[in-house]
Amino acid sequence: MASFIGANRHYWPRGKVLGGSSVIGSPHILMLSGIGPQKHLESLSVNIIITQPNLALFRLNDTFVRNVFKKGFKKGFTLIPIVLHPRSRGTITLKSTDPFDYPNIDPNYLDHTKDMEVLKRAIKISEKLLETDSFKQIGTHSDTYKNAVFCAMHEYKSNAFYECLITNLAHTAYHPTSSCKIGSDTDPEAVVDPALKVKGIEGLRVADVSIMPKVISGNINAPTIMIAEQAADMIRGIDSVKNIRRRSS
Ligand SMILES: Cc1cc2nc3c(=O)[nH]c(=O)nc-3n(C[C@H](O)[C@H](O)[C@H](O)COP(=O)(O)OP(=O)(O)OC[C@H]3O[C@@H](n4cnc5c(N)ncnc54)[C@H](O)[C@@H]3O)c2cc1C
Repeated sequence: MASFIGANRHYWPRGKVLGGSSVIGSPHILMLSGIGPQKHLESLSVNIIITQPNLALFRLNDTFVRNVFKKGFKKGFTLIPIVLHPRSRGTITLKSTDPFDYPNIDPNYLDHTKDMEVLKRAIKISEKLLETDSFKQIGTHSDTYKNAVFCAMHEYKSNAFYECLITNLAHTAYHPTSSCKIGSDTDPEAVVDPALKVKGIEGLRVADVSIMPKVISGNINAPTIMIAEQAADMIRGIDSVKNIRRRSS
């Protein structure tokens, strides 16, 4: 694990290693190092150190339906239905054992029927809102996509029409997480333990957004900084926010 290749030389760490290559990079490096799903690693003849069946499954937050602005609009607003807690799970797999080869990323958006249902319901709620008297007074209507050519083959506002709209307009807000989930020692899905240590390996931690057990409802950047701060505390063996906690309790 953790050789660094530069100028045709390999560098090996003498001490402990802290990985922070994020939701794609961390599982990529771990799998290249022999930590990952057995069958997949065997298929590429990677020397297996620990089998970790759940490494590299990840969730993507914020699949949302884009609005399309018409040219010439001076003022406007956007309603953005979002699947905050998607059930669909993507995968990251090795393309090869070359560390400079990017991994395969399959986000698998909208794979779970529930995600599609949530978006359909959210669009219908948005449409109802736009048809209220208050909104109509400012000139809104819910027919923005009535003439959407890409879904013209479906009856307007039918189930198939909404699914077509979603498939064509859904977008990501770039919040993938959970490819190296944190969890208790007895949690079979957990890649790292509560101290961020990769289970079954000495001296290796992961501290980045990949350890979130599930995607959270809010933005993920600030919580990731919190994860990093917590990692720094655990490594140094200090509690740097003790005073703040005492003041707020
Ligand atoms: C377009 C976009 C917009 C976003 N907008 C928001 C927002 O508005 N608000 C919000 O809260 N969050 C936002 N996010 C999410 C946020 O940026 C990430 O959640 C956050 O940066 C995750 O931090 P991290 O430390 O896990 O990863 P990163 O900040 O990505 O850091 C990982 C580092 O590891 C390096 N790395 C990766 N692989 C390797 C390797 N093999 N070897 C060496 N180094 C490697 C990378 O170069 C990078 O520097 C956005 C993300 C994107 C992509």
